[in-house]
Amino acid sequence: MPELPEVETVRRGLAEHVVGNKFKEITVLHRRATSPKSIAALASLKGARVTEVARRGKFLWFKLDRPEVLVGHLGMSGQFLIQPRSAPDERHLRVKISLGKLDLRFIDQRTFGWLGVDETRDGLPTYVKDIAADPFDSQFNLDETIERFKKKKTEIKRALLDQGVMSGVGNIYADEALWRSKIHPESRTETMKVSRIKELIENASSVMSEALSVGGTSFDDLYINVNGESGYFERSLAVYGQEGEGCPRCGREIRRIKFANRSSHFCPKCQPTPRASRNR
Ligand SMILES: [Zn+2]
Repeated sequence: MPELPEVETVRRGLAEHVVGNKFKEITVLHRRATSPKSIAALASLKGARVTEVARRGKFLWFKLDRPEVLVGHLGMSGQFLIQPRSAPDERHLRVKISLGKLDLRFIDQRTFGWLGVDETRDGLPTYVKDIAADPFDSQFNLDETIERFKKKKTEIKRALLDQGVMSGVGNIYADEALWRSKIHPESRTETMKVSRIKELIENASSVMSEALSVGGTSFDDLYINVNGESGYFERSLAVYGQEGEGCPRCGREIRRIKFANRSSHFCPKCQPTPRASRNR
């Protein structure tokens, strides 16, 4: 699933190719491609010119020369591709937006991604009103973010994945940030020192910026940038998807456990089990 570095890579590609262009024709090819919360049909944006491509966490939106915005979420497998108009339709093509010589195409194999027309309040689409700033956002406030982590009173990984606490982090970068911080995913936020939470946020931020610098992580081959190219960060993953491999820090075998309907990967030596869950 695309996380902040992947979505930001896509945003940059879109900004480069789409800003200044007009949506000349909008064709929706799958009903699930339009968000149920969309305030209008996607095709109603025909004729709008794109002025900027913005992002918060994993949400993208196209600012237009009108009050509405076009918001997008890649879900599990969504892709935005810039293609020549003459390119044949992709197998999982869901929305085709003609920009003239080029198309902006939304492709989504698993159909959890979507596009939606939205209005903005204080400069942000209503879709993201409950989404906290991500660490790359100019509105990001470290102290307030730490406070939200503390207030959650839950396992640290659950808080790290909670987009209302801090956005942008998904399963891959959560596991990597926890490993870098030597924190077990099931450690409780309320027993954690402020300095440890701060360190974790800093590590999440640095692992995501390292990933961004190489175009993100294309672990399951579903994530690609707008030109169809993969990112290279999976080569640098320490724990995610590395079950049975040696920990890059201590050599102990990386373990995988079920957590919140997903997998958590961690080093049992560097990230010892917290006391509360040891007796379970
Ligand atoms: Zn280790």
